[in-house]
Amino acid sequence: MPDGDNRGAIANIGFVIGAEGVAVIDTGGSYCDGMGLKAAIRARTALPVTYVINTHVHPDHIFGNAAFAGEGVSFVAHRNLPRALGERGEHGLQSYAEQVGPEAMQGTKIIPPTELVTDTLRLDLGGRALVLIARPAAHTDADLTVFDEATATLWTGDLIFLDHIPVLDGSLKGWLALTAALMQQPAARIVPGHGPPSAPWPEAGEKQLRYLQRLAEDLRGAIRAGKSISEAAAVCGTGEKDGWQLFGAYNSRNALTGFAELEWD
Ligand SMILES: [Zn+2]
Repeated sequence: MPDGDNRGAIANIGFVIGAEGVAVIDTGGSYCDGMGLKAAIRARTALPVTYVINTHVHPDHIFGNAAFAGEGVSFVAHRNLPRALGERGEHGLQSYAEQVGPEAMQGTKIIPPTELVTDTLRLDLGGRALVLIARPAAHTDADLTVFDEATATLWTGDLIFLDHIPVLDGSLKGWLALTAALMQQPAARIVPGHGPPSAPWPEAGEKQLRYLQRLAEDLRGAIRAGKSISEAAAVCGTGEKDGWQLFGAYNSRNALTGFAELEWD
């Protein structure tokens, strides 16, 4: 969880260096988190940051943007991201500040995208291409994946969680289908949104797929049995508790979100 000690730096963020420029993939949970990433880039290259890619709207992935704002920097995101930012950007700043403290949030601002991905977008960093794909509603309704062709590394953002329980803020059915579809996509490794910095693919998707399947099955059973949404939230998914961090913090919330979607099936 974001708190005063980690200053909101809880997600996997990083960068890819080409011959002409650098692409940042997610910027962290605050301006100071973003500045830390910028220092890590400067320790490795003097090339300019030409692209900042935001994989989705959540604060821990996007609130470091201001550290990279400037001329010649293109902020790239899913076509739905401006809407998501409009709906919750300001509120997100406030609630994140309550979690990490105002000092850690100093300088943190909403920086909206300047370039939108509607389907697929190829970015050239100079001899190194990144392929961005706008995904249908899954973890959120504005998730992007980034594929680095040179290393066959797939950056999933929060479309894949490891260790940290998956957090549902989009569509359970969509996320189930997309997890399975991503697992068919060849890649040497992924960079998940949370968990270790990289993991072998597609094995790293199995645990999340199992959790989402279990959650959906339990919810469908509860709906058929006429259970209330709060009864369902107390039990659905709990059979998959083992091995996930923060299960207690998010599982019932996931069940509430999934229930609201599946009850209309
Ligand atoms: Zn997220």
